[in-house]
Amino acid sequence: MSDFSTEPAGSAADFSTEPAGSAADFEAVIGLEVHAQLATRTKLFCGCSTAYGAAPNTQVCAVCLGLPGALPVVNARALELAALAGFSLGCDVRPRSVFARKSYFYPDLAKGYQISQLDEPLCLGGYVRYVLDGEARSARLTRIHVEEDAAKNLHLGGRTVVDFNRAGTPLIEIVGEPELRSGAEAEAYLRALREVLMFAGVNDGNLEEGSFRCDANVSIRPRGSATLGTRVELKNINSFRFVRLAIESEIRRQEALVLDGGKVTQETRGYDDARDATFAMRSKEEAHDYRYFPDPDLPPVSIAPARLDALRDSRPELAEDVRARWTNELGLTAYDAGVLTAHPEVARYVDRAATGLAAKASLAANVAGKKVANFVMSEVLRDVTTDGLAARFPISADALVGLLVLVEAGTINGKIAKDVLVRMRESGDDAATIVEREGLAQVTDTGALEAAVDAVIAASPSQVAQYRAGKTALLGYFVGQVMKATKGQANPAQVQAILKAKLDG
Ligand code: ADP
Ligand code: MG
Ligand code: ZN
Repeated sequence: MSDFSTEPAGSAADFSTEPAGSAADFEAVIGLEVHAQLATRTKLFCGCSTAYGAAPNTQVCAVCLGLPGALPVVNARALELAALAGFSLGCDVRPRSVFARKSYFYPDLAKGYQISQLDEPLCLGGYVRYVLDGEARSARLTRIHVEEDAAKNLHLGGRTVVDFNRAGTPLIEIVGEPELRSGAEAEAYLRALREVLMFAGVNDGNLEEGSFRCDANVSIRPRGSATLGTRVELKNINSFRFVRLAIESEIRRQEALVLDGGKVTQETRGYDDARDATFAMRSKEEAHDYRYFPDPDLPPVSIAPARLDALRDSRPELAEDVRARWTNELGLTAYDAGVLTAHPEVARYVDRAATGLAAKASLAANVAGKKVANFVMSEVLRDVTTDGLAARFPISADALVGLLVLVEAGTINGKIAKDVLVRMRESGDDAATIVEREGLAQVTDTGALEAAVDAVIAASPSQVAQYRAGKTALLGYFVGQVMKATKGQANPAQVQAILKAKLDG
């Protein structure tokens, strides 16, 4: 008897508590393919510029136009950046990879094939780490391969024209395993991936210009099933929010379809945000239709192991590592560390200024770090503008150090420092020059301060009486009056000490 369950056969325990045939019987499976433009100046197989926004068909040559007989030569910098992406994402970066032709016909592909990688991609495996609902997670990557971008079809009224400026732009395609479960999880993964690529200097993260693009593959299956359902590929979604919304609406569509007795068909769909619904674009070709084969014009890529090691060792620090270092070693809060790693150049600015201030003012690293972090967050950040991987600061990190050194030395107080910052921006001069020229140095001369204190005491008889009667909170009022009289240039600590001595004495 003990071999048998104690439940009688066919009891209620055999059934889920959900009513049969509800959306809760399904789980969603999502796998993302991200196309990220490598931040090179020139294209993957020719010397044409990759700069965005030029007049149509001005950045083209025989190679990227796909003229017969033109021979591609691979851009070594593109391969380096792709390898850096791989190292930054924990991939196995292969010393050997092979370019292959992916054949299909479309007006934006003049050669009739796209040069990509299939059987031997540059990177295998790897993962993306992200935070979802406060919980740290990671999702695996299948591979990263290098490929060229296609041209761009522009639909003008009744005509379609082609701009080849984008043709041949170097891309990496980052293929994720089908293991994400929701639109929100896909969004978190994509934001984290973009951050890694930007901190590695591999991609400028510009979704609007299309240098970071995502296709989302979505399927559903009975909860607990180990096999994958038929997938739909969602294409051309150009914001993180729309990726999340498109996936959520596609999951709802598939669930409703299956509950209605229908079947999901493999196809490519777009997302209409006005209706919050996906729509059919085209049925999906099977991979074997592409007739992939190794490109006879390009030898296999071979990167010497020593070169790979050097690249791995030279890779920039990732945002999550910067945040961990700052919270552990500088004592910044997780919130502040998050704000200051919003862009790689901001993070580098803070590090440079913190190191400079620690050295110049002989401060401990954590003390200097906190002072710089606070000043940047309250006074500098709002005037920073970013454009892709570049950022413009109101004053340089070194100039900021020059300013904060004066505060540390007691030459100016914190309030005057803000005024000096404004003048540094306007004039481009350094802090010491401005303080000297405009006589902004703190008044620390005891005689001058005593005179100012005496004048304030003489002018405020009723406040003096109240203070002496026990209302000591009025001390702040007196300090404020003296600061006003000295145009903010008095040393507040000194003023306070002199006031106390005179009022209490
Ligand atoms: P293709 O190259 O034709 O787009 P792949 O098999 O390489 O196809 O898969 C591409 C992406 O689709 C990967 O990110 C993978 O995780 C995802 N994917 C594959 N099958 C499914 C599925 N059934 N449901 C959701 N995503 C899937
Ligand atoms: Mg695909
Ligand atoms: Zn070209």
